Amino acid sequence: MAKKPLLEFTDRGIYCAQGKFYIDPWKPVDDAVITHAHADHAYWGHKYYLAHHLSREVLLYRLGEINLQTVEYGETVLKNGVTVSLFPAGHVIGSAQIRVEYKGEVWVVSGDYKVENDGISTPFEPVKCHHFISECTFGMPVYQWKPQVQTFNEINSWWRNNLEHGLATVIVGYSLGKAQRILQNLDLFNGKVYTHGVIENTNEALRRNGVLLNPTERITSESSKDDVRKGIIIAPPSSVGTPWMRKFQPYSFGYCSGWMAIRGAKRRRAADRGFVLSDHADWDGLISAIDATGCECVYLTHGYTATFSRYLNEIGFNAREVHTLYGGEEDPSNLPEGEASNTGEPEKKVLPLGEDLGGVL
Ligand SMILES: [Zn+2]
Ligand SMILES: [Zn+2]
Repeated sequence: MAKKPLLEFTDRGIYCAQGKFYIDPWKPVDDAVITHAHADHAYWGHKYYLAHHLSREVLLYRLGEINLQTVEYGETVLKNGVTVSLFPAGHVIGSAQIRVEYKGEVWVVSGDYKVENDGISTPFEPVKCHHFISECTFGMPVYQWKPQVQTFNEINSWWRNNLEHGLATVIVGYSLGKAQRILQNLDLFNGKVYTHGVIENTNEALRRNGVLLNPTERITSESSKDDVRKGIIIAPPSSVGTPWMRKFQPYSFGYCSGWMAIRGAKRRRAADRGFVLSDHADWDGLISAIDATGCECVYLTHGYTATFSRYLNEIGFNAREVHTLYGGEEDPSNLPEGEASNTGEPEKKVLPLGEDLGGVL
């Protein structure tokens, strides 16, 4: 009988039977190793959590009181004889790839990742392994990112232009990751940065974790509309089209996403400007990351798994699709229906009560 693989794909998530733990499980389990705090990877209801220490405060904020152990990158934890360690995934602050080793066999679960250094997340580090479980959110050749500095130059000059034309500036990005990346790259010479409550709650959690972020001001019912209109507003996707956003009219609304690389995405998001900015690897990034692992087998969890696994097999990798429940934030497979109503955001699925209150402030 063939040996049982070290990691297997179950209806609860990626499971290590030898170590008796799961990685990013979507149903309640006893022992969960978490790659990062996005809602499609960090679910509520597990007995025990292990994650990187920079994910700590965001996890506690999003999931409430959980039994959480945190580690540094490279630190090892032994689970029933299986060695578990975390390596930087470069996706968002605190995101990790999970390395699992038993009797010389090494598996790596990428979680979500990007290879470009965004200046705020610990940069992605390739990890040698026999089996690599990878995302491929943007696994189509059309997705090619330009260096982020170019995108931020566009964003800053768009902001200046809005100020000159008496328009407020609203920039939309996910509350964990994109929002902080935008914040750290805005030209503060233009003005102040104002935040939607959902974004500010995440910023505060990260600051509690010791992350230094540029100054921001939470928009509340007391905020002066005139002042806010002279700055820039960072808002989450869930605020698009809401009365909260409309009260800043007239404004120009910019959307930051990897989807903006394809024609029509801006129109579907009803945005005035679309900025190509993603916290996931682009086509070349995925291939270089997979190649750098030196792995024998690649398993593709979410994104354009069919197209991408076909391509990888063509160029000589042993790749296959696996079924998981990941995908949400920026997952193009959500495009056709999800796009229209902006329901593609994972934050909506598992947010603790109170999170959406940011929307009415
Ligand atoms: Zn993610
Ligand atoms: Zn994901």
